Amino acid sequence: MGSELQFYCEDCELNFESEPDGTGYEQAPCPSCGDVCMTVAFHEEERHRSRADRAAFVGAVSPIVFTGYGFLVPLFCLACVVVTEITAEGITKDDEYYQMHAWPLAFAMACAGTLCLVTGKRLAERFEQADDQTGNEETEDDETGDDETRDEEASVPDTFFSVEMPYWGPILFVVALVSLFSRGL
Ligand SMILES: [Zn+2]
Repeated sequence: MGSELQFYCEDCELNFESEPDGTGYEQAPCPSCGDVCMTVAFHEEERHRSRADRAAFVGAVSPIVFTGYGFLVPLFCLACVVVTEITAEGITKDDEYYQMHAWPLAFAMACAGTLCLVTGKRLAERFEQADDQTGNEETEDDETGDDETRDEEASVPDTFFSVEMPYWGPILFVVALVSLFSRGL
């Protein structure tokens, strides 16, 4: 009886104690449905592994989607679209106005583009300041240990799908024009 293990049947969602079925693997038939089941420890390990895989996937993909403050680009777009839609429908008292006219979306994209341009340029200025600081520090003394890590953080560009934030300004202006002309006023 010393060799009894905790097993788990996924189909029956049932924990049970049993001896391994003698195949050499840590598996045993479910007392309820008869299917071959793996140990509780195996299922836990499986869960840990899939969670680790997911974390690794997110870690690998998120720098492709955005770096630095690049996540602000879609947020600006969403915020501008929502504000424009609410405003347009508030002014016209027409719930369908936004859907029926092209210019509010074009206006929202142009606003988001302006925000990307202005904010992107502002954020990029912090690199120049960081460069100035390191320039001064190098002439004053040679304490670099902490500065190097700070510079690395500061020099991550703010990108969304590999495009730096200020360039999203003209891109969104083009999107605004295209949406205007493709749907008509
Ligand atoms: Zn079962």
